Amino acid sequence: MTNTSDATPIPRRHPTRTVTLGGVPLGSAHPIRVQSMTNTDTRDAEATIRQISELVEAGCEFVRLAVPDENAAQVLPAIQSAAPVPLIADIHFDHRLALKALEAGLQGLRINPGNIGSKTYVDRVVDAASANGACIRIGVNGGSLEKELLQKYGGATPEAMVESALGHAVLLEKRGFGNFKISLKSSSVPRTIAAYRLLAARLDCPLHVGITEAGTLLRGAVKSGVGLGILLWEGLGDTLRVSLTADPVLEVRAAWEILRSLGLRQRGPEIISCPTCGRTEIDLQDLAEEVERRLAGVTDVFTVAVMGCVVNGPGEAREADIGLAGGRDCGLIFSRGEILRKVRGRDELLPEFMRELEAFLVERRAG
Ligand code: SF4
Repeated sequence: MTNTSDATPIPRRHPTRTVTLGGVPLGSAHPIRVQSMTNTDTRDAEATIRQISELVEAGCEFVRLAVPDENAAQVLPAIQSAAPVPLIADIHFDHRLALKALEAGLQGLRINPGNIGSKTYVDRVVDAASANGACIRIGVNGGSLEKELLQKYGGATPEAMVESALGHAVLLEKRGFGNFKISLKSSSVPRTIAAYRLLAARLDCPLHVGITEAGTLLRGAVKSGVGLGILLWEGLGDTLRVSLTADPVLEVRAAWEILRSLGLRQRGPEIISCPTCGRTEIDLQDLAEEVERRLAGVTDVFTVAVMGCVVNGPGEAREADIGLAGGRDCGLIFSRGEILRKVRGRDELLPEFMRELEAFLVERRAG
């Protein structure tokens, strides 16, 4: 799956057809897109619009929102008109909410056609999606599989998840609808990987990948990094969401870190900082965290190194576009491989480094 002829292998995407979501093409011929989901009460349009804007600023390219009832459906037109990226309505059971979301102009639906009810209801939703050019995500979740499949397979196995997805896909395809993608989420990394591998061998539709209910910030980010890292490295995944029990803005940042780590997409600076050790002679953790915090909204692609001592520090700092290597109550600032200057005094390290970093960015943006 990987191109090993180069010194640095790059994952090769598993071929899929192209679908579109709000005018954005999705599939193996297109960039892998980052998604997240609002955790505001959708009925509170103002709070939801504010969170959508925070997510977009962090790099979110599609935003999903829960539409649990009629009141939430009623505020969708206001939310849609303020949204700078395509929105996806998350609908369960009530096909009328899906129709309302489409009427409000939302370009994406996340449903399970099987839990929408009768064939008539499914057909209505599919026809409306088709008329509006909307994209449907069939979202299979290991926690809510059909009873018959759980009995047939003895649990939410990868085979059961894939059979569920294929069953839903048939309902759409029978209606002549092909603008859909599929997700097969489970809180088990091995099960999720196995399910996506099986599905990709059966269907060519784009895949939305994620490890569901992954957990709190550290656990969830690690679990998602492992699971999504393996899938993406095998070329599986055309959109992704990192699910965290945390601020959804952090989901977006984590998703970008995963994509960046694999060399699939770049956005914002890559910050290299050493793990700290007994040789560190500056407040490295505070310094690295503060640099990261101050660069949070920057989208320029470059590397920054924040290193703790003179053993490996200068080497890494020299390799980065801009770097700092700490010494005893002092630091060396490097830019593009050269020593720019020496800063004396612990308290001066951060302000001086940030000053050089800003100057570096101004110069870089000027071309
Ligand atoms: Fe330790 Fe220095 Fe290496 Fe950082 S660069 S991990 S402080 S030896």
